[in-house]
Amino acid sequence: MPAPPPAGGLADQEGSATSMRTHLCGELREAHVGSAVRLCGWVARRREHGEHLAFVDLRDHSGLVQCVVPGTVEARSEYVVAVTGVVRARPEGTANADLATGAVEVGDCTVEVLAEADPPPFAVDDRVDVDEAVRLRHRYVDLRRPRLQANLRLRAAVVRALRNAMDRQGFCEVETPLLWAPTPEGAREFVVPSRLHHGSSYVLPQSPQLAKQLLMVAGVDRYYQVARCLRDEDLRADRQFEFTQLDVEASFVGQEDVLGFVSEAVLDAAEVATGERPGAIPRLTWAEAMDRYGTDKPDLRFGMELVDLTRTFAGTSVKAFAAPTVKGLVVDGGATVPRSRLDALTERARALGAKGLAWFRVGEEGMLDSPLDRFLAEDERRGLLEVTAAAPGDLVLVVADEHRVACTVLGQLRLEVGGRPVHEGPYRYVWVVDFPLFDGLDDAGNPLAAHHPFTMPHPDDLHLLEDDPLAVRSQAYDLVLNGWELGSGSVRIHRGDIQSRVFTALGISDEEATARFGFLLGAFRAGAPPHAGFAVGVDRLVAIFAGEESIREVIAFPKTQSGADLMTGAPSPVAPAVLTELGLALQQVPPASAGGSTATGGDR
Ligand code: ASP
Repeated sequence: MPAPPPAGGLADQEGSATSMRTHLCGELREAHVGSAVRLCGWVARRREHGEHLAFVDLRDHSGLVQCVVPGTVEARSEYVVAVTGVVRARPEGTANADLATGAVEVGDCTVEVLAEADPPPFAVDDRVDVDEAVRLRHRYVDLRRPRLQANLRLRAAVVRALRNAMDRQGFCEVETPLLWAPTPEGAREFVVPSRLHHGSSYVLPQSPQLAKQLLMVAGVDRYYQVARCLRDEDLRADRQFEFTQLDVEASFVGQEDVLGFVSEAVLDAAEVATGERPGAIPRLTWAEAMDRYGTDKPDLRFGMELVDLTRTFAGTSVKAFAAPTVKGLVVDGGATVPRSRLDALTERARALGAKGLAWFRVGEEGMLDSPLDRFLAEDERRGLLEVTAAAPGDLVLVVADEHRVACTVLGQLRLEVGGRPVHEGPYRYVWVVDFPLFDGLDDAGNPLAAHHPFTMPHPDDLHLLEDDPLAVRSQAYDLVLNGWELGSGSVRIHRGDIQSRVFTALGISDEEATARFGFLLGAFRAGAPPHAGFAVGVDRLVAIFAGEESIREVIAFPKTQSGADLMTGAPSPVAPAVLTELGLALQQVPPASAGGSTATGGDR
């Protein structure tokens, strides 16, 4: 039976006492000395010294405390036990500074076994490196580790902060369906066959995009949801089949309003997670981001901005530089980089799509060490040094190509040469605005929607929609943190005439538009307010705050890179009876064609 609470009240941590325990293991301090306590948890370690003295390190989610037992202990590692005893100061010289509870111990303990346990598959200890497959197979043990416990709690705190910020700003949380129709976000979708309508299926939402726009037509005005989204795409460190986003939509607002709402929520979350509120989030246009950083996800933690050398080489006789754009990247102190590394960088530039990579090691008095140096005119040599402001000892990398290629290749090399792990501070947020409306052409020569087909073109570029669609900017915007895209959003098209023009530009016929989005277009005819929205990736945000490189570390039950849940064995073969009920029959498909293309194609 539970011991009575010690004199002086219950546990210090509000609400930690239950009918079974008085305190949490990790909260005991010198102030508790003299208190009779009953603790519950798992045996982290047991050490016996003969028949009359044993030590049990007892662990719960709050931490670990040493318990001293005047006898033997039946409980082994990971047994679940209740320990009753009295808190006392540790004997002189035995305090453990590495442990929050290290000044005290619980003495005169009796140990009651609540549940036995098999020997654990690995030590529940952050310092032990365990193969990820083994961790995931025994995730319930893995999650006992302090680091993962902390990550889950950080995640909860971040979500709470996001929710509070949205509530405070007058948003209403609404749940939208999981069994739903296709969403045009461009990813392959998970399909759920219908038992009651053989041959038909639901689709799991890639995002609540369509639902939230319908909620605007429905007059909800300000919607948000901590929403689970599902995309059947290849997994990597920052991507899982299912992920969580703070999904937002508001009526009678423009881009500025949305940036304000989302900044408020993200800065609140940052403050809760890091203890410091970041300053106002700076902004770059997409064109500036590409030009200066060679990417629409610029990492602003370090400089190394790309420099434009197009003018310098405008009249060049160097064939390699005769291109629409010439871009340079200065690597401070890079002149000592060995030739083998330069060759590797050149190979990398080629793999990224460049025709080649020129390099110049800068020596004393403007001497350039480069295979191309003897071909440069004097003013080109001078121009190169002036524009790049390269100093003796630096390295200048140059790519000449179409603008997009020159920027993206050097942007990638910038990251590979100067970048660091995403989670390393300082945290540098940036809004990237004015994305292009379309992103390249599909096989049929139609522009591809860069965001999704409901994104409002930039008002200044509407006249270009028919004749120069790739030059049209949109009212779409991304939030970037340390080079990771945290989320994206846009002002939506709420007018039928503009929507028709965008569909036409995308090569979507009236029939196709009706077939794919008829219900949405119909809803818009019922009176659609101007509206705009955004979605923030919660897993990525938490991973960065937690200092984790992979979002798997901040998800309770993640899947492996190949989409397997090693603990449950999912996905598992479908039983014949289930197939029959669903009206399905299995067909052997050769693996090569099993991949297929995306359901909606094109849209991001
Ligand atoms: N639906 C978009 C996404 O999931 C976000 C938005 O435009 O609100 O990326």
